[in-house]
Amino acid sequence: MPEIIESITVTPIPSSYQKELGKNAYIDNIGTQRLEWVVRAKSSSGAEGISIANRLMRDGSVESMLAHIKGALLGREIDDLLEISNGVVTGAGPGMDRWYRRNGWMTILAFDLVGKVRGVSAIDLLGGKKHDSIPAYDTTLYFQDFLNPEKGAQQVGDEAAKAVADGWRALKLKMGRGGKWMLPEAGMRRDIEVVQSVRESVGPDVKIYVDANFGYDGRLDLLDEYIKEVTPLDIFWFEEMITHDVDGYKAMREMLAKYGSSALLTCGEVDRDPISEVFQDLIDDRLIDGYQPDIVGHGFLGWMDIERQLKGTGVRTIPHNFGNGCFGSYASIVWGAASETYVSLEDERNLAHYLTPLPEFTNGAYALPTGPGLGVDIDEAGYAPHAKHENRMEA
Ligand SMILES: [Mg+2]
Repeated sequence: MPEIIESITVTPIPSSYQKELGKNAYIDNIGTQRLEWVVRAKSSSGAEGISIANRLMRDGSVESMLAHIKGALLGREIDDLLEISNGVVTGAGPGMDRWYRRNGWMTILAFDLVGKVRGVSAIDLLGGKKHDSIPAYDTTLYFQDFLNPEKGAQQVGDEAAKAVADGWRALKLKMGRGGKWMLPEAGMRRDIEVVQSVRESVGPDVKIYVDANFGYDGRLDLLDEYIKEVTPLDIFWFEEMITHDVDGYKAMREMLAKYGSSALLTCGEVDRDPISEVFQDLIDDRLIDGYQPDIVGHGFLGWMDIERQLKGTGVRTIPHNFGNGCFGSYASIVWGAASETYVSLEDERNLAHYLTPLPEFTNGAYALPTGPGLGVDIDEAGYAPHAKHENRMEA
């Protein structure tokens, strides 16, 4: 009897942040929780693959999501999930391409389940580890000054200090206040104050990344001023300061050169069909240094394809992970472990209440998971309260 996927459950599980998250350049307060649509696929021998199907709920319903997952996975032979050669995955299994397309999350489940059935790590299925640990950055420093207007920029500085006290060695600060929530000039001034406050609070050794979610669109004059002011504060990367565009990025490269910044320019989280034309142009013209499609959205097969195309360009792998909750950290750590050019994990710092604990975190980096598959299992005690909303399908 071939081993097949015998049962699948899909369960909505809210994951909490450790604090309230404020606005970014275009979205109002993120709040305190995100929902993860947790998929558990069990095989005949009792192995279980895990992922989250949030992508299917973007324009779908529980009913349409279940129909899709059923067609893709229920009754499917484990050996048909992935194409494997010499212990390393080379592509989708027969007939799986159409299901994996735009459902990268499902490829991560496949790596997890196949790994657990074979008793091997997904890191090995991806070609083996390239690093001994995975650096992570705190990605929860939104427009926290708006949540505590009296303290203003200092609020972000204080939260940054707390993140460093908690062990993080890299932080990302949301920028672009002038794109929507403040007048452009005042927003740029506040952005600068925030970077100043954070640098003062965390000292010289912590990496600072900034991300404007396109908040400087149409205001290259203000962006120039901003880059001039923050460059002495040592910025590691500038993310989505403006919308991806060859002329805009050329202008930004010139600003960095003018002010002596060696920061990376990064973007690509909005690329739903990577690598799309404009991003390919930015890569070909050496105008970006890091590319950021979502880790769960595009999945492991999607990212294998992206890295094949990035090879030799010097552009580094920096998968977006915000909104992927507890599960996303495991996926990102495993991917990062096997990726030569990976930079760091976008860490939402959710408490992994329905999953077994993350690997040890020391000096701002996670150890690699050691178990088969993703090296994570469901924590049944943490999962139990959510089982009331479980949707179950049997082969
Ligand atoms: Mg971003």
